[in-house]
Amino acid sequence: FFAHMKAITPQPVEDLFFRWFQDPSPYKVNLIIGAYRTDEEKPYVFEAVKESERRILSNSNLNKEYIQSSGLDIFNKSSCAILLGKTCPAIIEKRVATFQTLSGSGSLRIGLEFLKTHINPPAVYVSDPSWNNYSLLVNQVGLPLIKYPYWNKLRGELDFDGIINCLQSALEGSVVILQVCAQNPTGVDPTLMQWDRIEQIVKEKKLIPFFDTAYLGWSSGDYEDDAYIVRKFVNNDIQCLISQSFSKCMGLYGERVGALHVVCSNQETAEIVHTNILPIVYTMYLSPPLHGARIVANILSDDELIKQWKNELKFVIQRLKDMRIRLVEELTALNTPGDWSYIVNGIGMFSNLQITPEQCSSLSDKYHCYVLNTGRISICGINTKNIKYVAKSIKAVVEP
Ligand code: PLP
Repeated sequence: FFAHMKAITPQPVEDLFFRWFQDPSPYKVNLIIGAYRTDEEKPYVFEAVKESERRILSNSNLNKEYIQSSGLDIFNKSSCAILLGKTCPAIIEKRVATFQTLSGSGSLRIGLEFLKTHINPPAVYVSDPSWNNYSLLVNQVGLPLIKYPYWNKLRGELDFDGIINCLQSALEGSVVILQVCAQNPTGVDPTLMQWDRIEQIVKEKKLIPFFDTAYLGWSSGDYEDDAYIVRKFVNNDIQCLISQSFSKCMGLYGERVGALHVVCSNQETAEIVHTNILPIVYTMYLSPPLHGARIVANILSDDELIKQWKNELKFVIQRLKDMRIRLVEELTALNTPGDWSYIVNGIGMFSNLQITPEQCSSLSDKYHCYVLNTGRISICGINTKNIKYVAKSIKAVVEP
């Protein structure tokens, strides 16, 4: 049955991760992976998460029954409230159809399946560059993919004119995937005024925004402040889909916990949308996992735990900000050719190094600092112990 198949080459990120994993060098640095690491290079479990799990374990009334296909009710309500704000008119008017999903990836997949089945938009616009999986997801559901420019590599800044020109000529009724903040991979976001212009075009061209909020918190350090853009669109009565993930902001990567919110024009439509998403969920995995949803719901329903979580998130983000500053200081102290200030100005987990693919390969192959050939580095991999080595290695590959 299966002998006719040809092997598919692994994604660059998987391939590189495997090479890093196998590298015996004591100097090796993982600048690939989009998951937070402490200064000791360890994964971090939030104290708020540990406390939430303690409460789950000590509650003898809890069982492990299936939950409904749309997910844990209290999780859906609290995740929607922290995202859109408790007083959001769309919530009060019951215009949001919410599903607990297998994190942000599951939300994007369910959302795109829903759009393909019931809207069949002429295209899905995805930023270039962007998180690689968007293209895979859009192709997988069989919708036409169009890339909109996002990044001016030469100038190391947002290609705002490119975004506007492309979206202005977009096919009416298309879907546009918009990362709300701390864009992966560039670490550069539109300004508030630029968002205003994007919103205007979304209205004019009747585009359907599909917001990806995977990095909420990673820009300002505050989850709710970072939700400003998505709240603004929703409060301005723009119908949209929102993918929410608790992987990065609560460190719940492996628990696969997130949500899909479909913001509709009225309650009746939201209820109909809900019934139409249910069969997509039944036929993929029946119902979502329980544990992660309980962890998040406990945190979001307790003011003390929310406070604890938010403080920890601030701390985590500050470490990365410090690493950005330190890296530029080290590069400058070494007289490394080039202007590296964009690293400090960048936001979130990633920065896009302005170096050639050959220089990236050399960083990985010769200096054991594993970086994608696009130049994307995860700041999470940098710490006070390896920062001098990373800077020296960058200098070595860029020097003529
Ligand atoms: N969106 C972006 C931009 C990402 O970088 C990622 C993961 O790296 C995701 C969504 C999905 O993450 P998850 O499925 O863990 O929520």
